[in-house]
Amino acid sequence: MSTEEMQKNVNVMKKTQEIPYKIYLPEEELPRAWYNVRADMKNKPAPLLNPATMQPITAEELGQVFCEDLVQQELDDTTADFPIPDEVFNFYKMYRPAPLVRAYFLEKALNTPAKIYYKFEGNNTSGSHKLNSAIAQAYYAKKQGLKSVTTETGAGQWGTALSMACAFFGLDCHVFMVKCSYEQKPFRREVMRTYGADVTPSPSMTTEAGRKILAEFPGTSGSLGCAISEAVERAMNTPSCRYVLGSVLTQVLLHQSIIGLEAKAALDKYGVKPDVIIGCAGGGSNVGGLISPFMGAKLRGEEDYRFIAVEPASCPSLTRGRYAYDYCDTGRICPLAKMYTLGSSFMPSASHSGGLRYHGMSPVVSQLYDDRLIEATTVEQTKVFEAARLFARTEGTLPAPESSHAICVAINEAIRCREENKAETILFGLTGTGYFDMVSYGKFNDGQMGDYIPTDEELAISLNKLDLVGK
Ligand SMILES: *Cc1c(COP(=O)(O)O)cnc(C)c1O
Repeated sequence: MSTEEMQKNVNVMKKTQEIPYKIYLPEEELPRAWYNVRADMKNKPAPLLNPATMQPITAEELGQVFCEDLVQQELDDTTADFPIPDEVFNFYKMYRPAPLVRAYFLEKALNTPAKIYYKFEGNNTSGSHKLNSAIAQAYYAKKQGLKSVTTETGAGQWGTALSMACAFFGLDCHVFMVKCSYEQKPFRREVMRTYGADVTPSPSMTTEAGRKILAEFPGTSGSLGCAISEAVERAMNTPSCRYVLGSVLTQVLLHQSIIGLEAKAALDKYGVKPDVIIGCAGGGSNVGGLISPFMGAKLRGEEDYRFIAVEPASCPSLTRGRYAYDYCDTGRICPLAKMYTLGSSFMPSASHSGGLRYHGMSPVVSQLYDDRLIEATTVEQTKVFEAARLFARTEGTLPAPESSHAICVAINEAIRCREENKAETILFGLTGTGYFDMVSYGKFNDGQMGDYIPTDEELAISLNKLDLVGK
């Protein structure tokens, strides 16, 4: 071997060694503005509609439900960068940057030539990426002089995140928690109460929407759409109160762009360009936020990437839903969004324990998917928990079931790379930790977990009701 060749090998070794297990951006390199991917989209997401008039909703009308600044963010599809207010940035510093981790141990276990990275968003007490938007929303509510906010929470991560954010800014917080989680996750409820929030299981008798749903579906374990209706109703009937939400709408996706911006900055620093970027998709905010800056580069023709949104086989809005205007909530009081949806009356099977239970999908993610700019796939929950177990045993972190949908597909992609002998770079979003999901893990560990895939006939029941939307 010539000295030149030897030097080359040493350089290659150095280069691979140069990538640390965890990459943390220093404070001065943290993003100072959120990125609005709509600014670079040729086909913009369709406007939200007012459910009363079925016309595009105005800022004034939206302002009755949401805070002023958030309404501006929601409706603005041309401004690319929104500066992060100092108060929000200061809070971000408590738990950001989120580490970008090179999954060396998982790569080794899979014996794959692929290079796997994940952006870990579970490093805060709420345990997920939801805090990124909760703190922004609480800040804008406080700035507007409001006294309180209401919201819904499914698995509990959003309610916990909002409780933390409200405690920080001194706002009252009322959370409608989907009944099955309220019962399954008493510790999450106590975390919220510790941060000062009021927590009500949904559907409840405290709202008209809740009473109506209980009359129609007695004994229901609840759904996100239904909890949203209750929270919106309470916000509209309470002075100096607004509704805030943890996913789906574009303001949330905008705040979550912090995930992708940090991940891209960290990778750029080491000259790494991902080939495949994977995120789990419930309402679409983390996957939308993770891919945003990369998608921007793709839309501007600067780079190319594959993007994959992963959803549960039991709640397949992108892969088996319809792209249509639909209500965001079961009670039909929220604005309508054009999105991939299973129909707002869709209730996921009770046996589904892996989160991501929402019937619709972010209008931005929906439009990108409709334009074939991102791919979507589904995974069954036993496969998801198998992936979670492998990840926990190799990389150490106990992942949230939601996040494990992305892990599962990242593993599948890494195995494909092994079979095709390709050293592709895979980036996925590890959105949270699974400490409050031990009932589900218990079912899996006991071999009691099954898979449920709705039949076309079952999906048709809620999908057919879409024809009646607005009529
Ligand atoms: C809420 C949540 C999700 C899904 O929500 P998106 O809006 O699709 O991001 C995924 N992972 C975790 C840990 C969550 O808490």
